[in-house]
Amino acid sequence: MPATALRQRLAELRGPSVAPLPLDARALAALAANPGCKRRALLDGAGVNKAALATALGSPSGFGQSQFAFMRGNAFEARVKADGGTELMRLLYERMGAGAGPGCEPPVAGETHVPDLAAAGPEGRAARTALALREATAAGMWTLLDHPMLALEVAGSPAYLEPDAVVVRPDGHWSVVEIKSFPMIDESADAAKVGAAARQAAVYVLALERVAAKVAGARVGHAVLLVCPKDFSNLPAASVVDVRKQRSVTRRQLERLTRIEDLAAALPEGTTFDVDRPAEELAAAVEAVEAAYAPECLAACELAFHCRAKARAVGAVGALGRSVRGELGGLTTIGEVLAAAEGTAGDPADPTVAALRRAAALRTEALRAAAPTGAEALAGARAGAGVRC
Ligand code: SF4
Repeated sequence: MPATALRQRLAELRGPSVAPLPLDARALAALAANPGCKRRALLDGAGVNKAALATALGSPSGFGQSQFAFMRGNAFEARVKADGGTELMRLLYERMGAGAGPGCEPPVAGETHVPDLAAAGPEGRAARTALALREATAAGMWTLLDHPMLALEVAGSPAYLEPDAVVVRPDGHWSVVEIKSFPMIDESADAAKVGAAARQAAVYVLALERVAAKVAGARVGHAVLLVCPKDFSNLPAASVVDVRKQRSVTRRQLERLTRIEDLAAALPEGTTFDVDRPAEELAAAVEAVEAAYAPECLAACELAFHCRAKARAVGAVGALGRSVRGELGGLTTIGEVLAAAEGTAGDPADPTVAALRRAAALRTEALRAAAPTGAEALAGARAGAGVRC
């Protein structure tokens, strides 16, 4: 499908008067975390506002950051970057300086170059960022880019991404810095939150690599610096996170997103996610695209309550968790699983079916062993009713 036709089709999906919601790193990272969900891939690729769609479907999203957490995060980030990024550069050199090339002296407090990245619009800011990266690499000096703007082509249109910071080393090495407000206790933080931050940072790494490809001597690091409050205090602590795996997964997902036209083409004629349409019509449109609900969606997608209700209604095993879904192989509903366990359906040669039957037999045996004998049950019932023999 030509790019213009695809853009027109995606505009029809959003609704004629609805501006596309720009994709950000969080959305791209969430896509990478649930690669099987065609529904999210299509809605994000078309720029549909999923929070508005969830509300129109009658399942408003409980997803998002509270205003308090948002303000706390901003205050922490400002503290980390204060005084021209002195503390941030100290942490970065302390954690990542060992890999610096020859002649790469530690940054001197107050002497880090912090270029002005202001420009009109996201395209202008992305161009200004690319120029600042090129100049910093050529100058061979420690440079801190505070909230640079990076562009990444997704499904035929640019997504604009804004990392917390990018540091350029004198040896031409570029590092992504992520500043988060969740605590790092005894040098370790919540694994799920670190994983989400790593997926987000991997998106920035991919976008930076596209800029670096056009800059002589530039190298993008696949290790990112994660800065968090230390032990519930307001002091910063940092650790290095290797995002190579997340980068590969995200890159595959982005390649898949470029085939969004196939997802759009498979929809019935006239399908739209325009939130001004009746809820029943919207529900039918959403159901027309295959989803892959898992409990992890609750922390990552605005449509989670809607998809959870639908998954539960059909007894989808995915609603029990990805690991359970993986264990059950080709059995996709709870009804199929129970039938396989009871021996009324399923191929006994299938190892999953055999394991379920064995588990059901063990359960029956255990229940029989634990059940009271007839005399014990009668005595128990009489005791409960206050009857004396
Ligand atoms: S909540 Fe629904 S649309 Fe969102 S990722 Fe999960 S299954 Fe996909």
